[in-house]
Amino acid sequence: DGSLTVQELAMKLVVPESEVIKILFFKGIAATINQALDLETAEMVTKELGIEVEAGTQESAAKKVTEMIEAGDLDYLQRRPPVVTIMGHVDHGKTSLLDAIRHAKVAQGEAGGITQHIGAYHVDVEHNGEPAQVVFLDTPGHEAFTAMRARGARVTDVAVLVVAADDGVQPQTIEAISHAKAAGVPIVVAINKIDKESAQPDRVKQELTEFNLVPEEWGGDTIMVPVSALQRENLDTLLEMILLVSEVEDLYANPDRPAKGTVIEAHLDKARGAVATFLVQNGTLRVGDVFVAGACLGKVRAMIDDRSQRVEAAGPSFAVEVLGLTDVPAAGDEFEVFTDEKAARSLADQRTMEQRQVRLAQAMAARRVSLTTLS
Ligand code: GDP
Ligand code: MG
Repeated sequence: DGSLTVQELAMKLVVPESEVIKILFFKGIAATINQALDLETAEMVTKELGIEVEAGTQESAAKKVTEMIEAGDLDYLQRRPPVVTIMGHVDHGKTSLLDAIRHAKVAQGEAGGITQHIGAYHVDVEHNGEPAQVVFLDTPGHEAFTAMRARGARVTDVAVLVVAADDGVQPQTIEAISHAKAAGVPIVVAINKIDKESAQPDRVKQELTEFNLVPEEWGGDTIMVPVSALQRENLDTLLEMILLVSEVEDLYANPDRPAKGTVIEAHLDKARGAVATFLVQNGTLRVGDVFVAGACLGKVRAMIDDRSQRVEAAGPSFAVEVLGLTDVPAAGDEFEVFTDEKAARSLADQRTMEQRQVRLAQAMAARRVSLTTLS
């Protein structure tokens, strides 16, 4: 009948479910995520979000990224490194691949070592004879990606899909493909475990064609790289291919402005208080900056990078652990630096109030449902 649930609509539009619920709430409709919406209501929500009704999910995902870039940035744009997420079925080697790249590319002797896990790390490589970087989100698996996407955050530029050569396409492989496609993120396939005797890379390629991922050598446009995380084989080719795919993406930012980006991890540390990893997506984050992350107000007291180094500044595509938050934001929350502390404070207050209203709306809707079920 063409109706969609709140959840389905949010997925289609690549916005947080809470956004849809909030809009409905302000129109006097107390909805749950499973509530069916008629076409007219769905269109109203879509319009309220400022999304063209005909726009596909891909375009709205693109919109999310460009939202980080403002008109004032256009004259100052510079290329930024790609931010990569590794996805794939359990046990296909996501963690092994992340560790292998980290160990192969970050020299042991380097200051600070490689011990710090802040939710992301970068490697230095050479591309077309120039120094380049690739940033990996090291919260592998789908949780991070889906949690952030559910909040409307778009942090990934390239998805590396790991498929074990001895196991082929599995349920979470398919899930990963559909997540990446829905978000409009290009996929590079890493066919892992090619060191194994039972490896059948051609069978994997064959299986992937069913999901419209056709390797270049078969006339398609998906890059597929055979690798072994265990033996650290072909990792340079994989990095090279990631950069190749990134070249055609619009990976630009203006480093000369206050920072803006997404919280990729946050927790309460016994000794250090609220700690969060910020992925800078536009501008440069500096010690002393006043920011709002989600509904939390903060002032950067110190920043620590992925090599355990204290740093004074972090530019586009880089992730840093930030100290100086008043509260713990959620993964997927946006953060933004304000030059005017009062403006920051009032935004934080407004966000806190909005969060309360959404919770209230959800509680009211839940109550209504339980009353209907009772009667
Ligand atoms: P994840 O669940 O996707 O993060 O997979 P893991 O990285 O934990 O790997 C699952 C298992 O596969 C572990 O026992 C790894 O040692 C093994 N493994 C990962 N990569 C390779 C590889 O390239 N070759 C072989 N032979 N084993 C691998
Ligand atoms: Mg793992």
